[in-house]
Amino acid sequence: MVILLRWVLLIAVSYLVVLGAPRGLDKLAAGCVVLFLASNLILMRLPTAAFHHKAFDPVLVLADISLVTLALWLCGTAGGDFFFIFFFVVFLAALGERPELTAIGAVLAAVAYLAVLHHGPLWDSAVLLRVPFLFITALTYGYLASVTREARARAQAAEAVLDLKKHFLATMSHEMRTPLNVIVGFGEMLREGALDPLSLRQLEGVQKIQVHAFELLALIDRTLKASRLESGGIELHLDTVALPRLMEEVEMAVGPYQKPDVRLTFRTGPGIPPLVTDRLKVKEVVTNLVTNALKYTAQGTVAVDARWPAQDGFIEILVQDTGIGIPPERQSEIFDLFTRAPEVETSCVPGVGLGLYIVRRLLDMLHGELRLESERGRGSTFTVRLPRTLEATTDAA
Ligand code: ADP
Repeated sequence: MVILLRWVLLIAVSYLVVLGAPRGLDKLAAGCVVLFLASNLILMRLPTAAFHHKAFDPVLVLADISLVTLALWLCGTAGGDFFFIFFFVVFLAALGERPELTAIGAVLAAVAYLAVLHHGPLWDSAVLLRVPFLFITALTYGYLASVTREARARAQAAEAVLDLKKHFLATMSHEMRTPLNVIVGFGEMLREGALDPLSLRQLEGVQKIQVHAFELLALIDRTLKASRLESGGIELHLDTVALPRLMEEVEMAVGPYQKPDVRLTFRTGPGIPPLVTDRLKVKEVVTNLVTNALKYTAQGTVAVDARWPAQDGFIEILVQDTGIGIPPERQSEIFDLFTRAPEVETSCVPGVGLGLYIVRRLLDMLHGELRLESERGRGSTFTVRLPRTLEATTDAA
């Protein structure tokens, strides 16, 4: 829309420079018009993201006003009085909360110009051209100002909703944790017969209650973790970490998720030196990725491979599976909070879309990187790259 309005503004300025100039066509003024035209052609090729940059509007308005003012001044088409009106209209457009007020302001400005400031015949073409010029200026910059205001209001509303969501999640999760722990605890006592011996059917029922209570607890813990990561409430604890030992710990942690038709293998390449990093966070990252690999693979293999390929500052841990894969258009969004691929949403695989978000945030803290290669139906490879010494990276940063 801005580009369209600028085309109209360009036509009006061109008329003023070419037809309205009392001294005939000025080359420099024509140069300004050409620059204006070139800038609009460039705008047409800019990616949409550039229009949303916060510096875009001020730079555009400044450049436009400079070019238009220079063009009009060079060709002598307007005196000080006209500039006064021109700036007034731009100012009005920038301030105007509502487009109809900007339009009324432009009409008043044009009438004031013709009635008070302009001396001379009213019906000469140069004078008549100045009136639409003022309108188009008001329209263009009024539109720009309203779009900016709307975008700002939308961003503020979204931020408020997000804040509310985070607060709600943190409070709810915290409040639900205590009664759930009581359910799990009493379930344990019932199962062990500490209250009264149970029949076999009763035992089965209690077991089911416990499995689901544990699932809910795990979900709550993840939610709390995500909200603490979001608020920056988690600290780093550096340690010297032997990778083979860490891989053993991950293997134990993912034990409950193993499936009969999926072969799970762990391999640690030769010569990997100990890492200086946060052991629990690395374990959580890899455990999350292996759990996902197992969840989204019905049959085939899940292979975890630690290596030191370039023998440089980074160690890599690859988690490869032969599962359902992730289509290219979903690959960036699955790292967002509560985001799952629609394909799995309809399947029976449990999950809420928190795991990869936590992985991404933890890797940010560890100064690590995550790469994803995947093809729908052919499996996925997540590659975690970790600095060998986190201290050194932090110092360098
Ligand atoms: P959850 O597994 O709880 O849904 P995650 O944040 O761990 O949440 O993963 C987000 C989404 O990414 C999943 O819902 C799934 O669509 C996709 N995904 C993650 N890992 C894999 C994988 N190994 N194979 C296929 N899809 C995956």
